[in-house]
Amino acid sequence: MLFIVVDQFRYDYLERFDDLFGPNGFRRLTRDGASWAQSNYDHMPTYTAPGHGTMMTGAYPAESGIIGNEWLDRPSGKRITSVTDESVKLLGGLPNDPAASPSRLMASTVGDEMRLATNDRSKVIGISVKDRSAILPAGRHANAAYWFSISSGTMVSSTYYFNQLPAWVTSFNNTKPADKYFGAKWERLLPESEYLKRVGPDNPSWENVSGWGDTNSFPHTITGGATKPERNFYIGLDYSPFTNDMLVSFAQEAIINEQLGKDDDTDVLTVSFSANDYVGHRFGPYSQEVMDVTLRTDRNVATLLDFVDARVGLANTLVAFTADHGVSPIPEQAAALGLGGGRIPFATVMGKIQAAISARYNPQGKIPDPTADYLLRFNEGNVWREWFINNNIYFNYDALKRDGVNLEEFSQVVVAAALTVPGIARCFSRLQLLRGATSVTDPIERRALHGFYPSRSGDVVMVAEPYKYIAETITATHGSPYTYDTHVPTIIMGAGVNAGRYWEPATPADIAPTLSALLRITAPSNSTGRVLVEALKR
Ligand SMILES: [Zn+2]
Repeated sequence: MLFIVVDQFRYDYLERFDDLFGPNGFRRLTRDGASWAQSNYDHMPTYTAPGHGTMMTGAYPAESGIIGNEWLDRPSGKRITSVTDESVKLLGGLPNDPAASPSRLMASTVGDEMRLATNDRSKVIGISVKDRSAILPAGRHANAAYWFSISSGTMVSSTYYFNQLPAWVTSFNNTKPADKYFGAKWERLLPESEYLKRVGPDNPSWENVSGWGDTNSFPHTITGGATKPERNFYIGLDYSPFTNDMLVSFAQEAIINEQLGKDDDTDVLTVSFSANDYVGHRFGPYSQEVMDVTLRTDRNVATLLDFVDARVGLANTLVAFTADHGVSPIPEQAAALGLGGGRIPFATVMGKIQAAISARYNPQGKIPDPTADYLLRFNEGNVWREWFINNNIYFNYDALKRDGVNLEEFSQVVVAAALTVPGIARCFSRLQLLRGATSVTDPIERRALHGFYPSRSGDVVMVAEPYKYIAETITATHGSPYTYDTHVPTIIMGAGVNAGRYWEPATPADIAPTLSALLRITAPSNSTGRVLVEALKR
């Protein structure tokens, strides 16, 4: 089974650029596979880790526990990542760099169930540039996950899986697979006229890339501002299409050296391409750069499928394709087009909320303000931050208890204050979500509920208006419950699947139970998705 993910890939990319794709990449998937044209994530925030935590578990973040790329770990007071694990060590990178594991994933994956079903004869391997995108789709009982380190420029793993890297991975790293791209020029794949026709000029004012050692026009010379291959270059490389090429080479090595697909027991290889997300964040979904990285990814997918076809046979391979989230237009572009784009400064949100808390609980204006610690701050790289994470605000329960503050009333004060901030559309409290006081027929409320995991989520969840970000610096981003972030491809190709375009509503949470049905194994532990029976042969 080959599972292909493209990080930050909107469904409309398949339609907007279809005639420019080659015959063996995305068009092979839409031609020979079953493709759901109305596939939306049904959770928020629509970030990388929640998406990758859902697609192979069939479980929303409310079940997988992967509520964000990062969240506040209440016991430690630290901001942690979805794959942070201080109990394991990194392999193949710099010795003191943090390692990672799937230990925070609270559901089994298709790969886990495949291994259970075959007494571990099946092999399950996840690869990506990002740790979370390699680790989460593969699962807790996977044989291995490999990702790219921006410190060492090598493919790394952790002692969660084994005590040393397989020899083939070390050999791959010995070729310095990233360094050959130092100073590489990223040019357009096709004549500029194709790009002007579909996405407009190369360097509109809203493509603000200053300070990144890059410009907003082609060709992009990939150095990251460094004079030789080192950390800044590896970061710069992330923002180019070239890591996708590197990942295809690594996937081919994995297939050869691990003999994937060689025997009767189904193996699972998950490959998540990350370049598209980095490029999309820097240039936005209506840029020449995103169009170009999409066309190049089509060629990457074709290379990978051709390789699997030659080695294993696509007739013997179940292939699935999806993305972890979409992306919204750059707010300044959305504003220029009259779509209401804009940015809501963190300080504005926190200022309004803190002022409302003070007005209610410190009416005499005592100094120092006893309410100053009512909202939980968090430690990020030894700096205390007052902002929120994933648009979640966390309360300081100790301080509220100390002052005898009623939690229910306090929640209402914070929610009411947040709703006075221009650009904030919706706001839900923990108490509302826990009591089911939200309506599942309201898609925004349902998506908030599906993204809420009590021990990890905050006490108040805010939603900005469409095309608005509560983010000041990042050029383009995602995370909202709106269509531009939720609508992604869902494609399954292989024996037992009737090819065609399907109009039934679907979500990437449906992929895992459907693959499990096709593989005739138990669906993952918390799988709540639907088996997409409309495309399955009887
Ligand atoms: Zn992502």
